[in-house]
Amino acid sequence: MKYDVIVIGSGPGGYISAIKASQLGKKVALVEKYSTLGGTCLNVGCIPSKALLDSSHHYYDALNNFEEHGISIKNPSFDFGKMINRKNKVIENTTAGIKFLMDKNNVTVYEGLGSFEDNTHIKVTKKDSSFEIIEGENIIIATGSKPSNLPFIKIDKEKIITSTEALNLKEIPKHLLVIGGGVIGLELGSVYKRLGANVTVIEYDSKITPTMDSDISRELQKVLKKQGIKFATGHRVTSVTRNNDEVTVKATNKKEEEIIFKGDFCLVAVGRKPYTEGLALEKVDVKVNEQGQIEVNKQFQTNISNIYAIGDVINGLMLAHKAEEEGIAVAEYLAKQKPHINYDLIPKIIYTWPEVASVGKTEDELKNSKMEYKSGKFPMRALGRSRASGDIDGFVKILADKNTDEILGVHMVGARVADLIMEVTVAMEYRASSEDLARICHGHPTYSEAIKEASKIAWDGVALNS
Ligand code: FAD
Ligand code: NAD
Repeated sequence: MKYDVIVIGSGPGGYISAIKASQLGKKVALVEKYSTLGGTCLNVGCIPSKALLDSSHHYYDALNNFEEHGISIKNPSFDFGKMINRKNKVIENTTAGIKFLMDKNNVTVYEGLGSFEDNTHIKVTKKDSSFEIIEGENIIIATGSKPSNLPFIKIDKEKIITSTEALNLKEIPKHLLVIGGGVIGLELGSVYKRLGANVTVIEYDSKITPTMDSDISRELQKVLKKQGIKFATGHRVTSVTRNNDEVTVKATNKKEEEIIFKGDFCLVAVGRKPYTEGLALEKVDVKVNEQGQIEVNKQFQTNISNIYAIGDVINGLMLAHKAEEEGIAVAEYLAKQKPHINYDLIPKIIYTWPEVASVGKTEDELKNSKMEYKSGKFPMRALGRSRASGDIDGFVKILADKNTDEILGVHMVGARVADLIMEVTVAMEYRASSEDLARICHGHPTYSEAIKEASKIAWDGVALNS
């Protein structure tokens, strides 16, 4: 069979790209090695983790916060099996939705491992080793990523695990040791802490979420510590061993002392790496860099002119919404359009509670670049909305150009900031100033008023409500 476009990989990059290319008049095939579509994000990433974060949040609230609202539930309890089943149901519905979208948009789906025969022919090998070869004028590689590991750790998938297994445990760990205080470590660490596990996060850097604004790292660590998560920052893990049900992690701290952590599960969450295994890239000589990323130009074109790559398998943030934008853009390039992605304005969100959301430059970046900036920071606890709900932790920080007042970065910790970040992202796309945001009427009482207040402080240095 001959297609205009063959997409390999059905994650948020690949499936969106397939839909868009088809909507732009191309004949499209999508190749996916697993039987369900949706990639990491829908099967073992964004969606299942959020399902468990929400379930565990409800339980945590019932246990710790309902009483204050005058609601008494005698001995709140949970059925972990049911929680996992609900999460699986959410995955099932969501991935079935992608299959529906493929049919609706006339995208032909091939189940099997896609590998290059040459630059226009893809071999699709099924589980039973049977195969067929399809032809494509253009090929889009959207094969995503897999968990990284440290060279001396053996992931046994039972007690020494990655996020994939952590989303599917049969029991609540007694003591979960988390290596890596990044997004996965903090989100999944939160899930199991709320469900009763002891959780210790061991982080190499001197702060958690090292790439985020330092104010965020400090505030997030403070509130998660209040929730009972223990942190060992500035610790370099040197070995991980298992003895039956016990896992031992050895690490070296900044004073070069050896520190020993013992638990019954160890989650290794030290980042992810691009996934190109099985593609037979060597047959077409597609260039891969030292980090294992497929090299592309600004149009997502590899060194082979009809082969493109997008999402986690190329350079940049490993986020579903970044992969999606690239999926749309590459389809538009193929249709001779001129798309544009603003990589400075990709929101970064952590779904702990309180949530974390960031867009644009961090204060550390502005300091390092010697740019003249001003800042406005407003605490969530000063909002009527926060006091009404009881969610008082966090802040909104607006960073603006000292001379022009243009907003350069926004960093927030607080209830529902995952959704609030889009207000400032839109404002920044239109190059708004902090005065612009401060002068816009915000609904009352809402958490969004913290954005207006922080903008007012960044603009003229004076607070109204704190
Ligand atoms: P992927 O989603 O990885 O999809 C690649 C697909 O290609 C897979 O289905 C794979 O089976 C298939 N494939 C690979 N090789 C072949 C081959 N040779 N032939 C056929 N098929 C192949 N991001 C967010 O933005 N928000 C979140 O909340 C979030 N939460 C996350 C939570 C966890 C626990 C994890 C692990 C990740 C999370 N991410 C989140 C990251 C997000 O999942 C990824 O950035 C996103 O899935 C990348 O999309 P992609 O299309 O590039 O690749
Ligand atoms: P990450 O890069 O967010 O965090 C990894 C952490 O591990 C870093 O803080 C790093 O300093 C630390 N680390 C590295 N080596 C270490 C060592 N030897 N000892 C101790 N600590 C060490 O990666 P992640 O949490 O694994 O997540 C992977 C990717 O998935 C990220 O790129 C993220 O964008 C994506 N993701 C996104 C979301 C979301 O958007 N909410 C959720 C989960 C995952």
